[in-house]
Amino acid sequence: MIATGTCFMRGDEVERDSSVRGIVTFEWDETEEVVIKGTIEGLKPGKHGLYILTLGNISNGYSSSGMHYNPCEKKHGGPQDDERHVGDLGNIEAGDDGVAKFEMHDRLIRLAGNYSIIGRTLVVTENEDDLGKGENEGSITGGNAGKGVAWGIIGIANK
Ligand code: ZN
Repeated sequence: MIATGTCFMRGDEVERDSSVRGIVTFEWDETEEVVIKGTIEGLKPGKHGLYILTLGNISNGYSSSGMHYNPCEKKHGGPQDDERHVGDLGNIEAGDDGVAKFEMHDRLIRLAGNYSIIGRTLVVTENEDDLGKGENEGSITGGNAGKGVAWGIIGIANK
């Protein structure tokens, strides 16, 4: 049995001047890693932070979904770090065409039980995540990645 989550992400062209769009899927066969695959378009070329926020409330864009999902009360970090939020997925990279197509494996997030990301908000940011290495307050709380440019709620994609 493979559990699958899916997230349709979009920016808000009117309120936030962002036409970024994307689809990201999460697959978990109940082993140690969740496989994340996605394509996000309309980004500026370069790296962009990708995060899961605590809540699934997008009534005010991603801003109403709280901080990075952090059930272990740790500092912000990169996906390979011991000191990281569960919701810290690191960076994705867009090419000159503004498209980021990626696959990553994460050892901490889950699609059920503890650390489940289902029903929470996925957001991609305008800037690169410094992965908590910026030696300032913004870095250890959120990676200095700037505002979100597209977001969506992660839903269940199979029975
Ligand atoms: Zn974080």
